Amino acid sequence: MWKAIVFDMDGTLIDSPLCFRTLRERLDIPDGAPILEHLAALDPEERAFKERLLEEMEVGYAGGAKLIEGVQEMLQAFRTVGVRVGIFTRNCKAATQRVLDAFDLPVEMVLTREDALPKPDPDGLLRFLEAWKLEPKEMLFVGDFRFDIECGRRAGVETAFYADGAQEYDDFGADHVIADYRTFAQQIAGPLSPYASS
Ligand SMILES: [Mg+2]
Repeated sequence: MWKAIVFDMDGTLIDSPLCFRTLRERLDIPDGAPILEHLAALDPEERAFKERLLEEMEVGYAGGAKLIEGVQEMLQAFRTVGVRVGIFTRNCKAATQRVLDAFDLPVEMVLTREDALPKPDPDGLLRFLEAWKLEPKEMLFVGDFRFDIECGRRAGVETAFYADGAQEYDDFGADHVIADYRTFAQQIAGPLSPYASS
């Protein structure tokens, strides 16, 4: 059993109306270019303006976020059996905090893009390993995007792709695929206790 499981946030723990197409259009980011990296390469004034705009949009979107089916029960189950839980996201701290406050998630450690180099850089995952004094093989990283799986691989941890109920998907070479969280949680923590999800 893994001693710790770290999750991506958007598309992995929450569904939000965060629409990358709209973000890209409003920030004038070319198709295929990663948002944070594109903004980082702009001249300082334009960069500062657009990063502020991005953060405003992210915080706004976070207000409309919904927890993905089974997440609350899964996280409670991990807490019960002593599996540590973290979040590592490319989202900003303000938007992430808004989600944590809204759902009161039992998450022990959270790293946002203000805290660590953004995925696919393994920096954030290495910080979890160091903080929790774990070997890479003792940790799983779960995400729904290419950068998540690449990040996990570069950190040397096992990776799981969250498929969100899709029949056809690219798992980006992840070690595991998670179809639904209740089944996944039961495999790790045993039968789930009923939890009144809000
Ligand atoms: Mg994601």
